[in-house]
Amino acid sequence: MSQPFQLPSYLSPDDPGPWAVYLEQVERVTPYLGKLSRWVDTLKHPKRILTVDVPVELDDGTIAHFEGYRVQHNMARGPVKGGIRFHQDVTLSEVMALSAWMSVKCAAVNVPFGGAKGGVRIDPRNYSQRELERVTRRYTSEISAILGPNQDIPAPDVNTNAQTMAWILDTYSQQTGHLSPGVVTGKPLALGGSLGRVEATGRGVFTVAAEAARDLGINLEGARVAIQGMGNVGGTAAKLFAEAGAKIIAAQDHTGTIYNAAGLNVAAVLEHVRSTGGVANAPGSEAIANDDFWTLESEILVPAALEGQITAKNAASIRTRIVVEGANGPTTPEADDILTQNGVFVIPDVLANAGGVTVSYFEWVQNFSSFFWDEELINRRLESLMRNAYKDISTIARQHAISLRTAAFITACSRILEAQELRGLYP
Ligand code: NAD
Repeated sequence: MSQPFQLPSYLSPDDPGPWAVYLEQVERVTPYLGKLSRWVDTLKHPKRILTVDVPVELDDGTIAHFEGYRVQHNMARGPVKGGIRFHQDVTLSEVMALSAWMSVKCAAVNVPFGGAKGGVRIDPRNYSQRELERVTRRYTSEISAILGPNQDIPAPDVNTNAQTMAWILDTYSQQTGHLSPGVVTGKPLALGGSLGRVEATGRGVFTVAAEAARDLGINLEGARVAIQGMGNVGGTAAKLFAEAGAKIIAAQDHTGTIYNAAGLNVAAVLEHVRSTGGVANAPGSEAIANDDFWTLESEILVPAALEGQITAKNAASIRTRIVVEGANGPTTPEADDILTQNGVFVIPDVLANAGGVTVSYFEWVQNFSSFFWDEELINRRLESLMRNAYKDISTIARQHAISLRTAAFITACSRILEAQELRGLYP
């Protein structure tokens, strides 16, 4: 029998953190797993957790120590994949949960990876580039025993980027004695990165939103779209929605909220963001209060900025048909229930923003063959994979009359546990 909510001894029962949220999600889908539920406890036990000390000499000659983690959640379906974040508030519980959600995301869209995540407790704003390079290299060296193109492949996450990946690639390659481009994804093009990676997540968001719109009989031509976040994900999605004839009626970011009932000029807004750092005062827009963003009438709403944005406080006032979660975790569980009760169709993060890991998968495949695809082929394969994932998951949602989020978890957990059952236990 499965054992709900049994926390590992290394997490405090008083502060179980995001890992407890993940455990509850697994509990919820267990009744749908049939005979595979015998294996469900596999999902509640990360395969490997590595905690490392990262000592670094700072520019002023002092020695600083940072705490680093790498968690490999599940390897039943393939090597593990997941970002590395640099943040002062990183905790083990958070890294564990994020690694498990990567397992779910990869399995939900049927990319042959398990999930992993890494983190270093550091506020990068307080350190120079040279210091961050030393932190990255020492952290990589400390976790290198469990890294590798066939084992564990990091990618950028909060406060890390293509340059960070280049340092990881170099450190790992120095240790193995040969260049290993497949050890990281999201790296610069000059080191074997993939075309289309930067836009991949936004393109995936648009692709699944277009599928859902078709299912619900919404014509994208003239559809009203509101987007929170005009960065990598939100900006790319805005461009693609506009190209499809939709009207971006509102955009919100850390500088404010802009509105135009006839549709914003997306190219002009993105240019304004590039030159000023935010959407505030973009040409052809009027400013509205941030709270009013959530009450605008629209066909599609895309939270593509931060977690915890749609809450019990604002969910009831949301007047849209489809919420597409470009961000990770933008909707709290209470808000999710409210949206569902109000008939809002929610495309969950594990499906909606999986375009990024999908093109990371393509990058890894290209690195193995040292043969690079053109951008058109990458986009076509991305769109086809996202469409198929949407179809698989929405079919299960319809069959059981459940939300797309629950259906995505059932699909993902079933795939992982089927692989686990077939492999059996060693010895
Ligand atoms: P980004 O840094 O490029 O953009 C973030 C955007 O959020 C910016 O427009 C910023 O102004 C806005 N923002 C910040 N604080 C805000 C606030 N208080 N209110 C409103 N807006 C605010 O980041 P990104 O890569 O576009 O990622 C956005 C989200 O998508 C994150 O949750 C990320 O985890 C998720 N995601 C990204 C990828 C990817 O490939 N980039 C993949 C999967 C998930």
